[in-house]
Amino acid sequence: MTFHSYKSDYQKQIEEIKNDGLYKDERLICSPQGGRIKVKKDVNASESDIINFCSNNYLGLSSHPEILQAAHKGLDDRGFGMSSVRFICGTQDIHRELEEKVSAFLGMEDSILFASCFDANAAVFEVLLGKDDHVICDKLIHASLIDGVRLCKANRHIYTHSNMEELETVLKGITSGKKLIVTDGVFSMDGDMAKLDQICALAEKYDAMVLSDDSHATGFIGKTGRGTHEHFDVMDKVDIITTTFGKALGGATGGCVSGRKEIVTLLKQRGRPYLFSNALMPAVVQATIRALDLLMQSTERRDKLESLTAFWRKGLTEAGFDLKPGNTPIIPIMLYDAKLAQEFSKKLFDQGVYAVGFFYPVVPKGEARIRTQVSAALEQSDLEECLKKFIAIGKELQVIS
Ligand SMILES: *Cc1c(COP(=O)(O)O)cnc(C)c1O
Repeated sequence: MTFHSYKSDYQKQIEEIKNDGLYKDERLICSPQGGRIKVKKDVNASESDIINFCSNNYLGLSSHPEILQAAHKGLDDRGFGMSSVRFICGTQDIHRELEEKVSAFLGMEDSILFASCFDANAAVFEVLLGKDDHVICDKLIHASLIDGVRLCKANRHIYTHSNMEELETVLKGITSGKKLIVTDGVFSMDGDMAKLDQICALAEKYDAMVLSDDSHATGFIGKTGRGTHEHFDVMDKVDIITTTFGKALGGATGGCVSGRKEIVTLLKQRGRPYLFSNALMPAVVQATIRALDLLMQSTERRDKLESLTAFWRKGLTEAGFDLKPGNTPIIPIMLYDAKLAQEFSKKLFDQGVYAVGFFYPVVPKGEARIRTQVSAALEQSDLEECLKKFIAIGKELQVIS
C-alpha cells in the first residue's frame, strides 16, 4: 500500500530527468572491454562493432592475456571468494603481497586495500580527522571524496578549482587543529592535473597534510607511470594517495589508501569500510599484482598512451573544437548543452564511435561535454578514423565551422 502512494512522486522525478535531457541510457556490451568492442541496444538487438573512446582502460590491460592468466591462477590456487572481512579470516598472503607491491609502485610506506576507491575515500577522513580539525578541498574533487569528507566531523573549507591563492588564504586562516588538503591528482571530468607541487609547498609552509586521489593517474601519469606526484616530482611530499584498481590497472575492482605507516595502521584498526566489508577476491588480487609487475618492467604502454594522447589533442584542437586545457588522456570536448551532447554522442555511435555525453549531475549544469578518453588499446589509425567522424559531426551540428 505504502509504495503505491509514493509511486507517482518517483515517476514524476523520472519524467523530469527525461524532460531535462539528463536521462542516461546504458548500452549493452557483448565483448570483453577493449579498444574495439561489440555493443547492442537491448538484449534482442543485433551486435555492432564500435571503437571505444570512453573507458578508463587507459593502458589496455582490462583484457590483457597476462592479466587474464593471473586472474585464472588466482581463482585456481586461492578460490573464488574470501567470505570474510580482512581482520577475521579474509587475509591471504597475496593480499599482503599486493599491499607491499602497490606501496613500492607508488613510493609510499604502506598500503591498505579496499573493495573500491569509493570505499577507500569513505574510510580515510573519519579516521584521520576529528571535530577540531580541518579539511580543505578543491571545488572539483570526485564525488567519493565529497562523500568521504561528509562522514567526518572536521571543519570543511573549499577553494576554487586549482586556485592556489585561495588555498593559501584558507590555510593562513586556520589557527588550530590538524589540516588536510584534499585534491584529485587528475580531475576526472576536466582532465587537468592538480598543481601538486604548489599544493605540497603550501602544505609544508602551513603544516598541513596532503591527500591526492590518483584514480585517473596511477599507472600512466609521470615518466614511469607512478602518478601525479611523480609528474610533479613530489613523491616524498604527498602523505596519502587513494587510488583504484578499477581503471588503468586491469579495471576490475578494488582500491587502496597508500601513505605514511601510522596512517595505514590506524586505518586497518578503524576504517569502517575496511572492518565491515568483504576482502578482495583472490583473482583480482593476483591480476592487480601482475598489472603492477608489467608496469614496473616496462613503460611501453604509458609511452604509447602519451603519444596517442598528444596526437588526439592536437587533431581536435586544429579542427577547432573547444577543449578543456590539459595534458592527460582525458580530453573533454565542450558543448555546454546537455541535449547537444546527447545528440553528438548518438551520431558518433551511429558511425561506430562510442563516446558518451556528460551532463548534470556528473558535471555542473551548462557544462555538458563529450569526454573522450584515449587508451593504449587503440592504434593511431583508430584515432585518425575517429577524428574524421568527429569533424564531420561537429560541422553538421555547427559546433565547428
Ligand atoms: C573512479 C574514481 C573513484 C572510484 O573508484 P572505484 O574503485 O571505482 O570505486 C574514486 N575517485 C576518483 C577520482 C575516481 O575517478
